[in-house]
Amino acid sequence: MTETAPVGYPPRRSDPVATAGVLAEQLAPGAAATERDGVRRAVLDRFAAGGLHGLLGPAEAGGTGTPVSTYREVAELLAGADGNTWFVWFQHNPVVKLLAASANDALRDRWLRALCTGTTQTGVAYSHVRAPRTVVRADRIPGGWRLTGDVAWCTGWGLADLVLLGATADDGRVVLALVPMVAGPALVPSAPLALAAMGGTSTVGLRLDGLDVADDDVVSVTDGESWAAGDALANANVQPSTFGVARAALAGLRGHDGETAAVLAERLYDVRDRAYRLADERPPADDVEEKLATRAEALLLGVEITSAFLASVGGRGMDLAHPAQRWAREAQFHLIQAQTGAVRAATLARIRAGAA
Ligand SMILES: Cc1cc2nc3c(=O)[nH]c(=O)nc-3n(C[C@H](O)[C@H](O)[C@H](O)COP(=O)(O)OP(=O)(O)OC[C@H]3O[C@@H](n4cnc5c(N)ncnc54)[C@H](O)[C@@H]3O)c2cc1C
Repeated sequence: MTETAPVGYPPRRSDPVATAGVLAEQLAPGAAATERDGVRRAVLDRFAAGGLHGLLGPAEAGGTGTPVSTYREVAELLAGADGNTWFVWFQHNPVVKLLAASANDALRDRWLRALCTGTTQTGVAYSHVRAPRTVVRADRIPGGWRLTGDVAWCTGWGLADLVLLGATADDGRVVLALVPMVAGPALVPSAPLALAAMGGTSTVGLRLDGLDVADDDVVSVTDGESWAAGDALANANVQPSTFGVARAALAGLRGHDGETAAVLAERLYDVRDRAYRLADERPPADDVEEKLATRAEALLLGVEITSAFLASVGGRGMDLAHPAQRWAREAQFHLIQAQTGAVRAATLARIRAGAA
């Protein structure tokens, strides 16, 4: 069965993990083809029909208000099955959260329900706001902002309907605006980027050439220091997808070398348990160094486990149709996905210490 197969199951909005499990089984055999040929909106729409676009949204807006532990299990299953489709879906989720928390009531009323049901899907283009210098400038104009600059990364171009753009005002404030994902004279996408991983995600760069966004479309304007602090704390924790890829590779490894798999499984489930406990049981601003060290440990263990699977398979693991090399490349991608300066430093420190 490939990812193009008909679904043949009823959407089970009440059980997202079961829904994700069914989708994962359907998607995994076609994951290499998805990377090669591109993620399809029809597949994302199946995620939406199963309620997976509203996991982080409030019930009163059509979301499922799912506990974070459930969201993590869903993300792990999807990332392990088909990293490309997972990644396009993943970009939608922070927008649901940000919009649900927005003080812009009219914008929330306009989009939140459609985002939670997934009839409208979004991407994001704001990681450049983390850079120490301004990459995309937001200049105040009457009734809105004018955005100018080159965005390095925007995943899901042509697959989503909206994109959350980030920009920095001259006083350092961070402006997030939700606009149609439609090319125009002031919003110019590059060709899809040729990538070592996630090549099917329709990831582009964007040239913003004086794009005017109305205040009506602005999700938030936050002072730069608060934004950076919140972003750094949120990204100190391990992303579930890191574990999803590692778990998938570990399952493969078991069939080739049970002894190695047993050793790595112990380490994986230990760091996973610690990572989720740190995220759940410690307040966001507490134990940040420990969280970062744990994220680095998980990232590098993911590289190790996917390498072990590849080594255990031998040469045919390098065939593009084989998952071993794809998971190894995806584990490398996770090293830089949602990478903040602190995550970068923690990853390199762990490598320097030789503890990887
Ligand atoms: C395939 C792919 C798809 C992506 N899709 C999206 C998307 O859809 N939307 C989106 O917003 N982002 C996206 N990203 C960006 C991604 O989430 C990360 O933010 C990005 O990869 C980090 O690398 P960078 O080169 O962009 O950032 P960099 O500019 O290198 O910065 C990364 C972090 O490290 C710090 N840093 C950089 N250099 C140094 C240094 N020398 N010393 C100390 N600190 C330093 C920076 O301050 C920053 O915090 C995508 C990335 C990839 C690879």
